[in-house]
Amino acid sequence: MKLTDLNRHGGIGANCHLIEVGGLRLVVDCGFHPKLSGAAAAPALEFLDEHEPDAVLVTHCHLDHLGALPMVTRRFPDIPVLMSQPSAMLAERLLRNSVNVMKRERAEKGMTEYPLYTMREVDATMRRVVPMLFGQPRRMTTGEDEVEITFHQAGHVAGAAGIELRYGHQSAFITGDVQFDAQRVIGGARFPAKHFDIVVTETTRGATESRPSGARASEVDRLLVAIDKTIKRGGSVLIPVFALGRMQEIFVVLNEARQAGRLPDVPIFAAGLGMDICNYFDEITRQTGITRFHRSVLRDLRVKPPPRNMRVGRAPSEQGIYVLSSGMLVENTPSYQFATGIVGRSEHTVCFVGYCDPDTPGGQLLATKQGEVFVFDAADYQTPVRAHIEQFDMTGHADRDELLEFALQADPRAVVLTHGDPPARAWFAERFAELAPKLKVLDPEPLKSYDV
Ligand SMILES: [Zn+2]
Ligand SMILES: [Zn+2]
Repeated sequence: MKLTDLNRHGGIGANCHLIEVGGLRLVVDCGFHPKLSGAAAAPALEFLDEHEPDAVLVTHCHLDHLGALPMVTRRFPDIPVLMSQPSAMLAERLLRNSVNVMKRERAEKGMTEYPLYTMREVDATMRRVVPMLFGQPRRMTTGEDEVEITFHQAGHVAGAAGIELRYGHQSAFITGDVQFDAQRVIGGARFPAKHFDIVVTETTRGATESRPSGARASEVDRLLVAIDKTIKRGGSVLIPVFALGRMQEIFVVLNEARQAGRLPDVPIFAAGLGMDICNYFDEITRQTGITRFHRSVLRDLRVKPPPRNMRVGRAPSEQGIYVLSSGMLVENTPSYQFATGIVGRSEHTVCFVGYCDPDTPGGQLLATKQGEVFVFDAADYQTPVRAHIEQFDMTGHADRDELLEFALQADPRAVVLTHGDPPARAWFAERFAELAPKLKVLDPEPLKSYDV
């Protein structure tokens, strides 16, 4: 196998690999860097001009894996795009949203290079999509060579897949983003327990100690207690969520809590792209059974849009639980706007339920001590932090020891590290060296091609 990492900035970044096996060139994922903007956020796609690919494989629909896909299909209009059936149902909605966000940024921030692609190009991309059923191999051939591609359920988020490649007498497995534990809305990964010559593994939580079993349930418990306390002292709760996956997960958690009599009787407000994604999850549940989410949860919880009179710095006019995207309080999103009104008041709580990059407003708020001033740059507003700011670990990523175990059970010749910050990758490199000294471990430099 020949592998080139096209994520030019390393870290988690704009996921995109060129993988050459069995005479075929495969692009695996094509995402946007979550922290960069403009053309710099896209992978180094110019590399493909001299290495024309035969197919694109998309592991899942988070934007760091999917966002730049139309930029590949623009370059290679006839290329097939393989993604799981649920991803094929979600991708168009997410790509269209990304066009809208880029158009807004162009208008608001004068970013003339935006949008990086158009609605028409999203349509063209979607026409190239080949939906894959989990566990069902698909053969691709060039001349005498043949590669067999199989998608396997990866947990993480609806539609997420790990990808098995078989070529000649060789095999490789690409984990994509993976969670082995079941979440409320989606089951855990079902990866084949067998030998692979090469394993390409994500390393997101490499710098985070593995959690004891039951950790997820106790985090949900802690969240419910925080909600209860906040409501009892007259405050409101903000739960910033990612639109894809986490918002739906939180609704199911709240609904179960209400049925168990553990949720105070206050209104639940929600807004953002995630509300629309709820409809797609309902459809995926009905068509594929891969998710466990029904639209009726929104009705049971009587979820409603936030009051219209939300203004920067103004306290919420109605007490309640506000489930708003984005998950990291990214500027100019509903959660960012709403946070301006509650961060300065001690009765309220902000409950982060996902990872917050330290460079995002969410990450910065988590790092701000009580009483210190927090600046909402994009809203031109600042306030000392008085609200309770809490974080709950309901991760969609596997613990590092589970990933290590999966890779080692495959008894591979080589392991390739991806999707992790340098300390996370370093932990994996050290552990592999210790546990399997003969194993070749590759932490690829961007844009350098390796024979693995
Ligand atoms: Zn992901
Ligand atoms: Zn990712």
